[in-house]
Amino acid sequence: MEDRIFLSSPHMSGREEFYIHNAFETNWIAPLGPNVDAFETEMAEYVGMNGAAALSSGTAAIHIALQLLDVNRGDTVFCSSLTFIASANPIIYQGAEPVFIDSEPDTWNMSPQALEAALKEAENEGKLPKAVIVVNLYGQSAKMEEIVSLCDQYGVPVIEDAAESLGSSYKGRKSGTFGKFGIYSFNGNKIITTSGGGMLVSDDEEALRKARFLATQARDPAPHYQHSKLGFNYRMSNILAGIGRAQLEVLDERVAARRAVFERYTESLGVLEWVEFMPELEGTMSNRWLTAVTVDQERLGISPMDLINALAEENIEARPVWKPLHLQPLFKGAKYYPHEAACSVSDYLFATGLCLPSGSNMTVEEQIRVIRTVKKAVRSTLAV
Ligand SMILES: *Cc1c(COP(=O)(O)O)cnc(C)c1O
Repeated sequence: MEDRIFLSSPHMSGREEFYIHNAFETNWIAPLGPNVDAFETEMAEYVGMNGAAALSSGTAAIHIALQLLDVNRGDTVFCSSLTFIASANPIIYQGAEPVFIDSEPDTWNMSPQALEAALKEAENEGKLPKAVIVVNLYGQSAKMEEIVSLCDQYGVPVIEDAAESLGSSYKGRKSGTFGKFGIYSFNGNKIITTSGGGMLVSDDEEALRKARFLATQARDPAPHYQHSKLGFNYRMSNILAGIGRAQLEVLDERVAARRAVFERYTESLGVLEWVEFMPELEGTMSNRWLTAVTVDQERLGISPMDLINALAEENIEARPVWKPLHLQPLFKGAKYYPHEAACSVSDYLFATGLCLPSGSNMTVEEQIRVIRTVKKAVRSTLAV
């Protein structure tokens, strides 16, 4: 059996141990310290926002953002449907109710049209959402201009879930900087990683101070241990922040490498009639965290799952596109607004889509192995 090709595996720069070593030398082995402070400053600088708060995960960052926006029991929060469950789980942590918004075909992300319908209806019912969580899937920015303008019109703050789109840009500005809050993830499979971790960014430095307070058990400024608010243990470790600093130094290289993987796939597979690649909206630059495609099952004779299984037989990891949250048993009964009455784009993308291995550390040989395996799987079924 040939070596396993992973969907997206950690890719160290070699500088990580320098920062980790520093943490050990100075005995900053804690969820605070110089690496944490520096990582926050460097991230804020990179994305172009006033400040950042380093947290234990992207999920924690969304959870804190919801608290800062005063989301509570009985409130509603709108969220993209086509995403990883972590985008919406914090809504439930706060006892609020998620309402899911469909994708549109140009970006696979939140449909402004569906969002507008949902906002209109919510206003008529006198119950606007407390926040809108917009996801940038697989590195591609949503139509942020339209979405932010709609949300401004209704006075609803935006949380940009940029967990998958760090390093991407939208009309010259970094992804994750378009809402009141942006969140990033440094989970092991993301474009850069700290093994696990997340970041909350904002221009509102007062809100970020509050975020750090909530993330360290909400301890009041008193010499004894006094608490008047519910807090969490959500800060990032100074060791992991060291890994993050070294990873941030090579982020742009990682983006270029992932885009090169995407290019190779489009050059070799793009000529085939039965495959379509996730688009890149004009004026945006996607980090191409994962190369996602849809396949024409009728033409091809096999489903995305068959293709994933064929790759698995060759020890290659591929995955279906995220299962939309409005289809998840956990969210059964939640309200859902499709792109058009008779057309749910996220259902279509889920039924036809898959993600190919896209790690920035993939060799050219590995990329060719993936391409060969896909072509072989298709040839065999076309011959049947
Ligand atoms: C990974 C991811 C998250 C969660 O980040 P963690 O750091 O794993 O908690 C949230 N949203 C999206 C879209 C993600 O892909």
